Amino acid sequence: MNIYVIMKRTFDTEEKISIKNGKVSDDGATFIINPYDEYAVEEAIKLKEEHGGEITVVTIGEEEAEKELRTALAMGADKAVHISDEDVEDGDAFSTAAILATFLKDKEADIILAGNVTVDSSSGQVGPRLAEELGIGVVTTITKLTVDGDKAIIERDVEGDIEIVEAQLPLVVTCQQGLNEPRYPSLPGIMKAKKKPLERFDLDDLDIEEDDVEGKSKTIEVSLPPVKGAGKILNGDLKVQAQELISLLKTEAKVI
Ligand SMILES: Cc1cc2nc3c(=O)[nH]c(=O)nc-3n(C[C@H](O)[C@H](O)[C@H](O)COP(=O)(O)OP(=O)(O)OC[C@H]3O[C@@H](n4cnc5c(N)ncnc54)[C@H](O)[C@@H]3O)c2cc1C
Repeated sequence: MNIYVIMKRTFDTEEKISIKNGKVSDDGATFIINPYDEYAVEEAIKLKEEHGGEITVVTIGEEEAEKELRTALAMGADKAVHISDEDVEDGDAFSTAAILATFLKDKEADIILAGNVTVDSSSGQVGPRLAEELGIGVVTTITKLTVDGDKAIIERDVEGDIEIVEAQLPLVVTCQQGLNEPRYPSLPGIMKAKKKPLERFDLDDLDIEEDDVEGKSKTIEVSLPPVKGAGKILNGDLKVQAQELISLLKTEAKVI
């Protein structure tokens, strides 16, 4: 199988977020593979173990994103592709999908695995937009994948229920928690990853004009949630406590 995984470098979910000059600051932040994209890498490895073939991981991002590509190679992917995002100032999900589609259109992928959403921008648009650009099907939030010939039998998460879908390859799928347990890269895997091929492209190499992939949306404002006040503990006689609680809900919280 010709398997592609699209993946994004995101903030570590343990990171404390701060905002500087209207943008989320990445000063001193730790970065990881977007957790949903780890499910995609793991599922790609399982597909290869069952059906053979080759796994290529692709990311658009800054130079440092090559670290996360190497992690995916250490997990078991065969090849990596880094597309530089430097030429586009204000990219969005449209830009990402358009660039990925240009890269992938002649690659004859049997399946393209993406994360369901990213844990930073979290628009959940890139997978479906990419499928639309490539003119192939897409199944989102998948929790089980079985490939049989040119068909995929898929279980998908629908608000806690399961929907079973049959879909035709080539196909884009977006991976949801519960699909698998991503493996940790082994030491031999990490050593091997250093020698695996990593290709680098910029927009010129892909014959993409900057204007054609400029974002279609603009972030107007980014803000942190309001700081929570300290909690209040009521003491004493239960009846008095209940009366005080009602009074606080009316006068302070203003919810009744
Ligand atoms: C050229 C370029 C310039 C950008 N400039 C800016 C900017 O100036 N300011 C800013 O705030 N943001 C910028 N971005 C980031 C951009 O807004 C988001 O990456 C994009 O909207 C994806 O949205 P999302 O993170 O919500 O992904 P979602 O749609 O939630 O992601 C779903 C899945 O799509 C795949 N995916 C998402 N992003 C990528 C990626 N980059 N590479 C490979 N696969 C991916 C992953 O599998 C992911 O799990 C830029 C992105 C690009 C490509």
